[in-house]
Amino acid sequence: MGLLSQGSPLNWEETKKYADHVRKHGIVQFLNIYNKVKERQKDVLLWGDEVEYMLIEMDDKNEKVRLVLNGGEVLETLQDKGEKTNPNHPTLWRPEYGSYMIEGTPGQPYGGTMSEFNTVEDNMGKRRREASSVLNENETLATITSFPRLGCPGFTRPEYNPTPVEKGVSKSLFFPDEAINRHPRFSTLTRNIRHRRGEKVVINVPIFKDKCTPSPFIEMFPEDDGEAARAAVPDHIYMDAMGFGMGNCCLQVTFQACSIQEARYLYDQLATFCPIVMALSAASPFYRGYVSDIDCRWGVISASVDDRTREERGLEPLKTNKFRILKSRYDSIDSYLSSCGEKYNDIDLTIDEEINKQLLDAGIDNLLAQHIAHLFIRDPLSLFQEKIHLDDENESDHFENLQSTNWQTMRFKPPPPNSEIGWRVEFRPMEVQLTDFENSAYVVFIVLLTRVILSYKLDFLIPLSKVDENMKVAQKRNAVQTGMFYFRKDIYKGCNPVLDGSSAAQNGLDNEGDNDYTLMSIDTIINGKEGVFQGLIPILNCYLENMEVDVDTRCTILNYLKLIKRRASGELMTMAKWMREFVDKHPEYKQDSVITDKINYDLLRKCDSIAKGDERCPELLGDPTFDPLEGTSD
Ligand code: GLU
Ligand code: MG
Repeated sequence: MGLLSQGSPLNWEETKKYADHVRKHGIVQFLNIYNKVKERQKDVLLWGDEVEYMLIEMDDKNEKVRLVLNGGEVLETLQDKGEKTNPNHPTLWRPEYGSYMIEGTPGQPYGGTMSEFNTVEDNMGKRRREASSVLNENETLATITSFPRLGCPGFTRPEYNPTPVEKGVSKSLFFPDEAINRHPRFSTLTRNIRHRRGEKVVINVPIFKDKCTPSPFIEMFPEDDGEAARAAVPDHIYMDAMGFGMGNCCLQVTFQACSIQEARYLYDQLATFCPIVMALSAASPFYRGYVSDIDCRWGVISASVDDRTREERGLEPLKTNKFRILKSRYDSIDSYLSSCGEKYNDIDLTIDEEINKQLLDAGIDNLLAQHIAHLFIRDPLSLFQEKIHLDDENESDHFENLQSTNWQTMRFKPPPPNSEIGWRVEFRPMEVQLTDFENSAYVVFIVLLTRVILSYKLDFLIPLSKVDENMKVAQKRNAVQTGMFYFRKDIYKGCNPVLDGSSAAQNGLDNEGDNDYTLMSIDTIINGKEGVFQGLIPILNCYLENMEVDVDTRCTILNYLKLIKRRASGELMTMAKWMREFVDKHPEYKQDSVITDKINYDLLRKCDSIAKGDERCPELLGDPTFDPLEGTSD
């Protein structure tokens, strides 16, 4: 979540009073940045990854694993030893939502040369070793997307009880406030989301119905005052706190584009890949100690930060609120930004008309104006007393306030004021993988995709409503093998907004568009299918063949692509599937959808030894003796 400002956070009632102030100055700040850097052209593409980690304690004696709530201290130690001692330190560490989480990125962004693909895994390895070296003896660093027993009794170290009744920010029946990062930003977000919404957040995930799972599956919550009984849906795993969502880990990639036009083009193109790559990275099948029927975290986080009131959700007529809002703040994007995308913008877009007009009057084009005016239908969720009155010329906190709490699949990022940084886009849907090898593979795959998109001027756009349908399919159990996704067939005939901003307008709104895409499996999208689609891996291979790459780097890249290829074909399992099989085969598992402490312990032990390279796992990672250079040009 980036760097954090210190200070005294305001409660919801006070924050609300400043909502218009924050929005008004946020727009001024955006315009100031825009006007200063709209013409900026950089010639190199920079990029970087973000990996989120959990700190875990292995209690071998009791055969239990717990989340260790000392992320704050670990972070401080890592920063002291790292960036604070040496500005060129190869890693950077940042806080994350859980007090059992930390986030790591490379110290410097990667550049445009091919050989840098060969350093990604090495840097991730450095991060893992660096962070591991400051942990206590029985603790370990895990890159798992969701902790299977998050919110189960005694899941933290030290142990804390949730405080549903007394004062607290979550008021969860399951998730103690101590598991939230101690920086005030996180507890303030948690409390203000709940207050703005007017009730606790509600997360219902379908349970996986195994042979012995009670049917209907209905839980009793002894400490419930009635809210949980009303909110919990039968046959679902019920959760009631932001931590169940934002306490999950992901893998993100940020790109710096050469210009604002290129950033907008990449934003749109990558948006179509979000559901596909999310399904390919599926790694979170378990919630609150149960086996669920979903494989990805997305919908869980979405519900976990849904601050919309009943009016905004359409459950009551609009009285005190301004808008009916169709999605949570954490959700898929609602409009394309490039001129090519214009004709595919078919999602109902709620915008703040006044802000939209202000932006248009200031010379911003319609597509960008509506994007910002859509983000700005939200209220600020956290505001610090000391940060209310700002210098709009040189600061952007109010803009960032709303920008950084619109957690969408893609994020379009203007440069910070007075910096050398360019226009960036962030790719946010991926689940974090168990090993540095896999995380590198997914990251390199996405970066290579951006290279071919830009070099071959490819066009993957389909109506945005179809991308949304894909998002729903992508989260389902085993979507990677059974899901069908809308995908564009002819990716070579699109327009190029970087060179010719007017071509979309010339094409106009045509109905032929309907034939541009069709339903495909992930295997078809990634590996291709005769007569349907060429396949992304064959396209990447073709690109690689035409690039000068040293043998070693080529070998590394081909190994990564091999992983992606085999995950897509089903030859290798996703993490989600692998975890399901592990639980299913566990001697203590009773086919009742319950993940016991012992199952969780054995699972995470196994994960740990695979992540450390002590144990091989061919069904997940493939065979390391496999020659990547053989049979890649298909
Ligand atoms: N942990 C969140 C996720 O899994 C992302 C938080 C962030 O934006 O850094 O999507
Ligand atoms: Mg993060």
